[in-house]
Amino acid sequence: MYDHRQLGRELQIFDTDPLIGAGLPYWLPAGAAIRHALEEYVRELERRAGYQHVYSPVLAKRELYELSGHWEHYRDGMYPPMAVDPVAEGDPGPGGDSGPGGGSQLVLRPSMCPHHAVMFRSRGRSYRELPLRMAELGGQYRAELSGVLGGLTRVRGMQLNDAHIFCTLEQAAGEAASALAMIRQAHEALGIEPARYRLSLASDSAKYVGSAQMWADATAMLRDVLATSGIDYEVEEGEAAFYGPKIDVQVADSAEREASIATVQIDFYQPERFSLEYVGPDGAKHRPVMVHRSIIGSAERAVGHLLDVYGGAFPPWLAPVQLVALPVSEAQLAPAEAGHRAGTTSRSGERWQPGRPHPRAQASPVPGRDRRNRGRRRRSINQAPRRPAAAADERRRGTYPNRQPGQSPHHRAVERAECRSLNQTA
Ligand SMILES: [Zn+2]
Repeated sequence: MYDHRQLGRELQIFDTDPLIGAGLPYWLPAGAAIRHALEEYVRELERRAGYQHVYSPVLAKRELYELSGHWEHYRDGMYPPMAVDPVAEGDPGPGGDSGPGGGSQLVLRPSMCPHHAVMFRSRGRSYRELPLRMAELGGQYRAELSGVLGGLTRVRGMQLNDAHIFCTLEQAAGEAASALAMIRQAHEALGIEPARYRLSLASDSAKYVGSAQMWADATAMLRDVLATSGIDYEVEEGEAAFYGPKIDVQVADSAEREASIATVQIDFYQPERFSLEYVGPDGAKHRPVMVHRSIIGSAERAVGHLLDVYGGAFPPWLAPVQLVALPVSEAQLAPAEAGHRAGTTSRSGERWQPGRPHPRAQASPVPGRDRRNRGRRRRSINQAPRRPAAAADERRRGTYPNRQPGQSPHHRAVERAECRSLNQTA
């Protein structure tokens, strides 16, 4: 295991700046390439599993979170509201909004569930549409104290891979089991090894809402899902969401600190709060169940963990630089650069980097003159999965004598085959 914070800076994956603020990392080109590949993988996996992707705003009126219960039960994790459209005292404002002077207040969202619930109820729904699987890769915010912030794993703003499945009571356990299977499939493909599975239940705390029956039913369903999936797990009280129990997939970093990277939750509470309904085959209105799930958690946490796992030497499909063309002399510099240009413009989109610094290379973030940057550059080249030598004569002959043992001269075909085989596991 490696330390992703150190590697992230060395390999120019991400960084932070005091002026932007702690816990608000920015993604450099190499990090953006990894994140893009990861997001594409997850999006494709979800699409094939019948999910529909949506986008919703990262801000909402305070009233939305009052309705969902976040305002009352999760306020510690939320940023203070922003007053907008302040109006004169005594005027209730448009729609009777609350807030200073009667104007409305906006908050940064702490979760996407309320947005998706509102989107579900935006029109009448029939049982024929269920299960309705709504997925989003979007921003959400958590008010963390500066003392706990670090790298990509504890941040104040994150891009979450989230989804909500609206389904009938009878479908809920099956949907939760499918979500869990999808998580295991994705983790295997990505090289994520769970430290343990956790069934997170409520404690006596007043922060938990809903009836005892709701909790008992949802917990029994999750236990069934774990049992039928053949997964060993540990029960932990006091780790549930405020609205329901959840299965958490835990990973550990190099310092044995644990974090949840994936989750599956069965929720009877939010559908009740938002008065969600669908028309059943009997023509009557019924309440759906919400299954919340995330496969990789946030892009931040997932990339941070993958850096820990791979030490920066990512598998080809995830690597920020997939191919490095190493010229054996100045004479081969031009073919190496041509290969780079061909790679960046090809439809299959391999991420090339020529072995010599050159200012036009998108994948070469730093000029090679100063010593520190040269070191960084060398490391990023050493981490690239394929290193064919681009020698003009050899290119003509179709051979690459400097290749590593086991490397095919037909590296691009290999590359594509690897991407394809990964897609086929999806
Ligand atoms: Zn949710």
